[in-house]
Amino acid sequence: MEFKNITVIGSGTMGLGIAHVAAAGNFKVILNDVDTKSLEKALSTIQKNLAKSVELGKILQNAMDLALSNITLNTNLEDSVRQSDFVVEAIPERIDWKIDLFTKIDKVCKEHTIFASNTSGLSITEMAGTTSRPEKFIGMHFFNPVHKMKLIEIIRGLETSDETCKITEEISVKMGKETVEVNESPGFVTSRINAMIGNEAFFMLQEGVASAKDIDKAIKLGLNHPMGPFEMIDLVGLDTRLNILKYLHKSLGEKYRPCPLIEKYVNAGRLGKKVGKGVYEY
Ligand code: NAD
Repeated sequence: MEFKNITVIGSGTMGLGIAHVAAAGNFKVILNDVDTKSLEKALSTIQKNLAKSVELGKILQNAMDLALSNITLNTNLEDSVRQSDFVVEAIPERIDWKIDLFTKIDKVCKEHTIFASNTSGLSITEMAGTTSRPEKFIGMHFFNPVHKMKLIEIIRGLETSDETCKITEEISVKMGKETVEVNESPGFVTSRINAMIGNEAFFMLQEGVASAKDIDKAIKLGLNHPMGPFEMIDLVGLDTRLNILKYLHKSLGEKYRPCPLIEKYVNAGRLGKKVGKGVYEY
């Protein structure tokens, strides 16, 4: 069976990037969101990012035109998934919201349709268990910015079938990505390590060990990380990162307790680059 139609649910930071790489991989993509403004903004960002790739000589103009012609926007959930072969969920990191969404689409989707969640660290097995297709449920952890980052962590839930893993890997390759397979565990590989580094950086900032700028500089120039932990957390979103830490704390223990300073920033609305201010001002 050919998997041709992909639906991406949630058109925020990640959803728009996933729609971009899926469309560039010549899948027919429906991008769904509850918010029309978010959809419009997503399409204009995809256009801008594709135009930049053309300008840099990475893709040809006709590849950009083809990718854009593959994307349709839709705010109706049922209509967005009815014909879909593969659904990628990229709504906010709330297990109750995600379960509610998967329960709804499970009733409408075709039998062969695979569900993939782009969660940063929630349980694939738990979400899969609320649907009638746990063997066709998988984690597909993309990285931000999706059109530039090479990796997808493919997460196997307890019941995920080999066939689902194989199809997801093939789709990832068509999207131009490399994959690693990870058995489900809170935070997988990357979010668990990344959350720890970011949390430790916040504790240092709170204790006055160094300024945010100098902590970032030290990690970049001393440890050869391409981004500092605060640059990274501003890109990911402080709210997203806090939710991940809360989940890791609950599931893996005390080591992951969120630094109070992150909570303070989130309460102040400093959510990162997406709102123009996080640890830094943009
Ligand atoms: P975001 O807040 O930028 O976007 C979420 C979008 O989902 C919004 O446009 C919102 O309107 C929409 N939405 C909310 N509820 C919806 C629903 N029921 N149906 C349809 N649309 C709905 O969030 P994001 O940063 O793109 O994160 C999305 C997911 O990806 C989260 O699970 C997050 O943990 C994960 N993730 C994020 C990053 C990152 O760097 N931001 C990286 C990897 C994974």
